[in-house]
Amino acid sequence: AARSVQWTAQPSPVRGTPPLLPSEKRNLERLQRSLHRAELGRSPADASGRPRARGQLLGASGPASLTPSRASSFCAPVSLSSGDDNLKVIVRIRPLNSREREAGGHKCIQQSNERSLAVLTSEPQHYTFDAVAGEDADQTSIFQVAGQPIVENCLAGYNSCIFAYGHTGSGKTYTMLGPQTEGGHQSQMRGLTPRVFEHLFQKIAGLNEEPGDIKRTVRCKCSFLEIYNETLTDLLSPSDGQHLQIREDANHGIYVENLCEEAVGCMEDVSSLLVRGQAARKVGETAMNRESSRSHSVFTCTLECSSTDASGVTQILHSRLNLVDLAGSERQKASGAAGERLREASSINKSLSTLGHVIMSLVDMQRGAHRHVPYRDSRLTYLLQESLGGNSKTIMMANISPSSANLAETLSTLRFAQRAKSIKNRAKVNE
Ligand code: ADP
Ligand code: MG
Repeated sequence: AARSVQWTAQPSPVRGTPPLLPSEKRNLERLQRSLHRAELGRSPADASGRPRARGQLLGASGPASLTPSRASSFCAPVSLSSGDDNLKVIVRIRPLNSREREAGGHKCIQQSNERSLAVLTSEPQHYTFDAVAGEDADQTSIFQVAGQPIVENCLAGYNSCIFAYGHTGSGKTYTMLGPQTEGGHQSQMRGLTPRVFEHLFQKIAGLNEEPGDIKRTVRCKCSFLEIYNETLTDLLSPSDGQHLQIREDANHGIYVENLCEEAVGCMEDVSSLLVRGQAARKVGETAMNRESSRSHSVFTCTLECSSTDASGVTQILHSRLNLVDLAGSERQKASGAAGERLREASSINKSLSTLGHVIMSLVDMQRGAHRHVPYRDSRLTYLLQESLGGNSKTIMMANISPSSANLAETLSTLRFAQRAKSIKNRAKVNE
């Protein structure tokens, strides 16, 4: 049966969400209690009202495990004892498509169980991750595993990030948004981004339903940008064609100067931003004669959760959620390319490999090693710095195709995912 990914507490020395002040901590605990009461079920721990330690929000008795209906059987319960669990790696195998079938491709990837898969070469290779989603895993299941915990997390004041990795055609955009048809992100097959916001607005609506003296409000702002050739373009305000700069200062942390941020209060607001951003992306591609697979898109939501108590004292928690559809991970050939193509190839290779290095450094640091985290080596990791590491929670959705025609790219994705987080194969593989 499917279960949501669970996090366990792990204070981390690396930079990310800063430690809470005592007043923020009290506020967080209140917010958590109200979130729990707003949940569909209650565990004894919630009923006692006992506050949880920061970072333990989504443990075995936390909101993630209160999911009422269990989805199709693809995803194992995850209980990690080591300190690397601010990152979850989920591999999603998409179904073989008709084109692949017609071209004579056969399935060379088989899900073994909820956490493992086998690559069916002459000597089958087994890989284990936090979760493996097979081809029958629907979008609802993916949301329950990856999206729901992230929303709870953001409302509790943590920065979070979901990114989709994989070669072009592996299912990144399908996972993050839904089918690339008109209205695809509003259909039954809609992906993580719309579902995350539906859940977020549902949660926000339920926040003040319980009786009590504390009044809570949550304000959300969204931005949508694209990173291509190490330059940033605003997808919500693309007309000026300006490249945006990443800045950093003590007050704001890391931010993008002049980036358009729009307040959102309902699903329609979010949908219209998605449509606008996708359209701007298309225009940019046509104008520059390139494919979207060569750029990263980053949809960011900044939350401001404030609670005012009976005496009028207000506490505010800020958090940020980044939903990232990465450039295709297929090897970009730099040899023989010149000009724009060369720049393009090297910037994609560089940003994806830097992302890999950043993740590996973070995992090592959580295991006690002292490492330099090379955030500044690419715009992508610099931009996401405050959502990668520290107390932030990150989900890497590694998308793969089951087709033998894509085997080389699939192996490369599996290796990337495994390097990012190597998990000992504790689950018995069902042969
Ligand atoms: P990418 O963004 O990685 O290039 P897409 O998300 O565009 O890949 O997916 C490629 C094609 O496969 C699309 O037609 C998409 O609708 C389809 N597809 C991807 N994943 C799935 C899935 N899990 N179930 C059904 N169709 C899928
Ligand atoms: Mg895509």
